[in-house]
Amino acid sequence: MAPPPVGGPCGSPCSQAAGALYGTRRAGAWLAFAPPLGPWARLGPSPGAGPGCAPPRGRGSLSSLGTMRKGPGAGARRGRGGGGPEPSAPPRRAPPRLLLLLLLLLLLAAGAGLYLGWGSGAGGGQPRGPPGAQLGHKPRSLSSSQVKRLASLVDLPRLWGSFLKPMLIERYPGSPGNRKVRQFIVDSLATLAAGWRIELDAFEDRTPRGVVSFANVVATLDSAARRRLVLACHYDSKYFPRDRQGRIFLGATDSAVPCAILLELATALDASLLKAKEQGSEVTLQLLFLDGEEAFGEWSESDSLYGARHLAEHMAKAQHRPDTSQLQAMSLFVLLDLLGARNPTIQNHFPLTASWFDRLVGIEKRLHQLGLLQSHPREQTYFQREPVYGAVEDDHVPFLRKGVPVLHLIATPFPWVWHTMEDTEQNLHPPTVENLCKILVAFLAEYLWL
Ligand SMILES: [Zn+2]
Repeated sequence: MAPPPVGGPCGSPCSQAAGALYGTRRAGAWLAFAPPLGPWARLGPSPGAGPGCAPPRGRGSLSSLGTMRKGPGAGARRGRGGGGPEPSAPPRRAPPRLLLLLLLLLLLAAGAGLYLGWGSGAGGGQPRGPPGAQLGHKPRSLSSSQVKRLASLVDLPRLWGSFLKPMLIERYPGSPGNRKVRQFIVDSLATLAAGWRIELDAFEDRTPRGVVSFANVVATLDSAARRRLVLACHYDSKYFPRDRQGRIFLGATDSAVPCAILLELATALDASLLKAKEQGSEVTLQLLFLDGEEAFGEWSESDSLYGARHLAEHMAKAQHRPDTSQLQAMSLFVLLDLLGARNPTIQNHFPLTASWFDRLVGIEKRLHQLGLLQSHPREQTYFQREPVYGAVEDDHVPFLRKGVPVLHLIATPFPWVWHTMEDTEQNLHPPTVENLCKILVAFLAEYLWL
């Protein structure tokens, strides 16, 4: 039985209305962890504050960038119908040649201005124009031997034993398991050689179960890099009371596996990521482990996506460079959710990012042809260009509404175990998890030029 075509992982209708008001956020705080080899967080506590110390409220890092906007250019809107009623010129009369020439010159000048504006965005200044302007990034092409080497870096036993199993506990927001998994994610990243800058976006919000503490984990490889490829998942599990047999909800596909995949990707590519960081690559990697994706009660705008809403709002204001917010530094936001069951169908939801979705389609096909995928019956088993599936409300929405280009990698239809006590390790399909990881390793190597 398929879930409704339009709805969130929690069954909500998808609302694309921009600028919606959200819930009842309370004070937020950024806490910083110092990984062994990493620098201190710039957005963390004020100088002198140690790890775990909340910065004072009203801190300067939340500088407003209200004048910088994304979204469709105003020119596009003006193009239609602007100018008001026509003057009383005789109809169907050809304008004089001089006027045509002037018009042509004006158009050329406007075109040159646009080109220069975009050029500075792509080359030396802040991203400008519509979000699509950031999609000009070119992936590298990989040889077959490079693809084979990259695929061999994926270590399924490590993914399963070291990353997935510790996260398969009850971890709804504010619970002991939630704190334990969050610390586990921080510790796992902090041991890597690449030296991730790890921050906590901690805050409280009102929920149907009272005021709850949340914390997103934000890991950035090279915080100085101009742009960021973002990989995101949610680490909280949905709150369900124990069932009659005393079972708890573990959310293996929702979303322990996506989180384990992110940790495995960072680990498999550790040496390459360190090298890219040392070389000062233009685009870096950022990992988001979001809290509070799930609704406590009925999914609604105010009861869902707690962590993503808080982080998107913060990053829209937080400075990345003098003229760029952290949100504008995101060249692509890739969200993984509801993965781990056998042979998922993953479709693209956004025409804007179709070219990046096509890279995934191409990589799956290539890995299949090279015989690198297990239990993979057809060249295109997972990533499908057609049919187009309706948008699914998920953690990407607050970022999408603020103009970030999104790739939403979610199984549609949802896994049959979705939001049941059956969403367990036993109902996962290890070869699928390994295959997805191999595809994503190649995708990252292409995107980040590893
Ligand atoms: Zn869920």
